[in-house]
Amino acid sequence: MYRNYYPSADWKKILTFSTNRETPFLIVLLDRVRQKYEEFRANFPSAKIYYAVKANPGIEVLSLLRDLGSHFDIASIYELDRALDLGVSANRLSFGNTIKKARHIREAYEKGVRLFTSDCEMDVRNLAKEAPGSRVFFRLLMDAVTSDSDWPLSRKFGCQPRMSLDLMLLAADLGLEPYGVSFHVGSQQREIPAWDAAIGQAHALFDWMEQKHLRLKAINMGGGFPADYVVKANPLSVYSEEINRYLNQYFGSSVPKIYLEPGRGLVGDAGVLVSEIVTIAKKSKTDLRRWIYTDVGIFNGLMETLGESIKYPIYTEKKGETGDVIMAGPTCDSLDIMYEHFKYQLPLSLESGDRLYWLSTGAYTASYSAIEFNGFPPLKTYYL
Ligand SMILES: *Cc1c(COP(=O)(O)O)cnc(C)c1O
Repeated sequence: MYRNYYPSADWKKILTFSTNRETPFLIVLLDRVRQKYEEFRANFPSAKIYYAVKANPGIEVLSLLRDLGSHFDIASIYELDRALDLGVSANRLSFGNTIKKARHIREAYEKGVRLFTSDCEMDVRNLAKEAPGSRVFFRLLMDAVTSDSDWPLSRKFGCQPRMSLDLMLLAADLGLEPYGVSFHVGSQQREIPAWDAAIGQAHALFDWMEQKHLRLKAINMGGGFPADYVVKANPLSVYSEEINRYLNQYFGSSVPKIYLEPGRGLVGDAGVLVSEIVTIAKKSKTDLRRWIYTDVGIFNGLMETLGESIKYPIYTEKKGETGDVIMAGPTCDSLDIMYEHFKYQLPLSLESGDRLYWLSTGAYTASYSAIEFNGFPPLKTYYL
């Protein structure tokens, strides 16, 4: 199953590279990142693309996207330094995290960053003081639509539209440039109408600001674009068609500048996590389900299986009759169970030492891996 997620040339690369190499490790196929970036460009030709560095901060990924002309969305001054060290100029960076220390705002400003995102008064005041005159996106609270996504970013970010309006007026008073509205509809958002609701709210804010004689210029639509997991998503072209239709319906001939911040959608499909079965167990002689313990788990790469939110396709070269399994990781922690309620089916012939390939694991795996929980090393990544 799932072999058809990758063309056979990719499989050849993956299997050849993996032979006799100690697992677990992540392989990132850089050509697939390149293809996705070009797909984003083709589908959103007038948008500026800010890769969300946190999805996979590997320098090979960042260098490739730098050379392709991408911009970058950074979550901290540490990601800022990484981008600057790779020769990305500060005017290609946006500090999109609404939660940041005043002195980190200052540091980013001193290093040349002039584009920030905010969602509360205290942060706006810090920005006015530490990054005077900067452009600011104001992030909308999206709790109603993010619940449809597989990895919601709800509640914690953004504020209600009325409060955004007040913040924009305050920002303008304090000498900042209220540049536009931002939102994130939730990561792995398979319900495309989520963008309809969000763009509608953004449009209302453009109107209100116009009445106050302030013209906003841009909408930052964040991420949410999908990778192909067990449940496949619509192709990017369907997302772009629908989103462009919403934009035209709300804004007519005066569609603002569009910023996109894809993370998962750009790098998710490029990754394959190679693991090995440690052991297989039953809890009683008559147990109908096998527990498969692998050398990769929640703590060394599969954090997004928490709550069984993200369901990665698992490929094995073993064939034959299948049966229900529970998938669990290698640590001495009972949280370290990836799939128990979701009924994964894997061949009955699997044995300890067999390889399992976790597909579409390019995003939020290596970057979520613990440093040495239970002594296990962080997830290694190889870029092919
Ligand atoms: C995490 C994040 C993204 C990337 O989201 P994906 O769903 O992975 O594409 C984009 N923008 C902001 C502000 C984020 O926090």
